[in-house]
Amino acid sequence: MNSQSKYDKRFSFEFFPPKTDAGMEKLGVVQQQLAARKPGFFSVTYGAGGSTRDRTFETVMSVKNGTGICTAPHLSCVGDTKKQLAELLQQYKASGINRIVALRGDLPSGMGASLGELKYASDLVRFIREQSGDHFHIEVAAYPEMHPQAQGMKADLNAFKTKVDAGASSAITQYFFNIDAYKFFIDSCEKMGIEIPIVPGIMPITNYENLVRFSHTCGAEIPRWIKVRMEAFAGDLPSIVQFGEEVVTSLCQELLDMGAPGLHFYTLNQAAPTLAIWDKLSLAG
Ligand code: FAD
Repeated sequence: MNSQSKYDKRFSFEFFPPKTDAGMEKLGVVQQQLAARKPGFFSVTYGAGGSTRDRTFETVMSVKNGTGICTAPHLSCVGDTKKQLAELLQQYKASGINRIVALRGDLPSGMGASLGELKYASDLVRFIREQSGDHFHIEVAAYPEMHPQAQGMKADLNAFKTKVDAGASSAITQYFFNIDAYKFFIDSCEKMGIEIPIVPGIMPITNYENLVRFSHTCGAEIPRWIKVRMEAFAGDLPSIVQFGEEVVTSLCQELLDMGAPGLHFYTLNQAAPTLAIWDKLSLAG
């Protein structure tokens, strides 16, 4: 963990682009509440295949202009042509955006694996560098518990190194609840000569059923001790929220104490669950 702790801590909050005017209005309030904590940046997700191309752009500009804080669009390559990606990069550059989260994305089920001209996130990182040189700070995804489609941990680590070698500036992890998975991942990266900051992605727990479903898809393990306690609450939401808050706050504090270079919160466009954790961390104030 040594080389991770040398970076200044950086904190970021992720949103998704709302589908409705009401959602956009709500996000306007949420972004102000979170902006008051002075994060390093916000980020806004992108629907693979370009399904949110316009909404992601509009949300990025609305958050950036509304808060004055750096806002990074996510961009996935699966299902988009190089021409579409180049146009979008140009549009972001012209709009004063200088940070981007570069991903492969997930294809909607039933579509072929080779849809789009760029197959992996490493191809997208290389493409962004070819198109825009050093203009963008490029974030990529990392998987302490292994990407669910990877052939194995070693193959996934090699894929991660390929993204770094292609020009990634830093990484954000898939969320996890097993702190050792992060610790071992960082150690493996250090042994491979990977030196970029790898910031833990943090998922506040607010709804157990959704968490189970989403974790199954993205390959994040919910430890058995958390599952049995959550299930014992039998749908008692206030107890689930309180327990979730305690678990995730303690995870965040341990990560910071052991030298993690910051935290990236998957806010799901809600301020309260993230702030409940943030305000208990010893960095708050
Ligand atoms: P890659 O790094 O390309 O890896 C995908 C798989 O291919 C892995 O199994 C890897 O091991 C393998 N692989 C990579 N390179 C090679 C190679 N050369 N040869 C063989 N195998 C290889 N999804 C969205 O659609 N929109 C978003 O906005 C979004 N935001 C995200 C933000 C974060 C922080 C994270 C962690 C994930 C996000 N995702 C998003 C989900 C992400 O798109 C999926 O996890 C996707 O399945 C993989 O994307 P990737 O960029 O990690 O892909």
